[in-house]
Amino acid sequence: MILDLRDIKRKGKDSLDFFFEYSPEKEFTDATFMKIEMPIMVVGTVFITGEGSAFIECETTFKVKGSCTRCLEETEREYSVQVREGLDEDSEDGYPIVNDRIDLTKIIDDAVFMNMPISFLCREDCLGLCPECGGNLNKGECKCKNL
Ligand SMILES: [Zn+2]
Ligand SMILES: [Zn+2]
Repeated sequence: MILDLRDIKRKGKDSLDFFFEYSPEKEFTDATFMKIEMPIMVVGTVFITGEGSAFIECETTFKVKGSCTRCLEETEREYSVQVREGLDEDSEDGYPIVNDRIDLTKIIDDAVFMNMPISFLCREDCLGLCPECGGNLNKGECKCKNL
């Protein structure tokens, strides 16, 4: 995912809209109960803010599939992460601009990684499983409620 600022300048513009479908090889979580569905969608705009500096504004959307940590039902949820990042040619850390090019890969990897859910729920108010009989309380499967 390379943004070439020279292309933008050559067209006499100071911003460019971009869209990527991105399928990283790396795993974003050690959790075995959930997995990111590929591809990750990245849509946004890069603004040239000066000689050797730029600003990126984009939205990263990804789907996570897995089993709910409370009730174990298979479930799928979509997450979206806003990324706003200023970049500079002279930046020693973070995300530098190299030869008028920006590599979005690390920026997006970091954004997804930081925003991976810690617990994965089918819905925020998931009732989970009955500790006595193991019935799914969302479905009213518990039979020992009245004991
Ligand atoms: Zn659940
Ligand atoms: Zn029960």
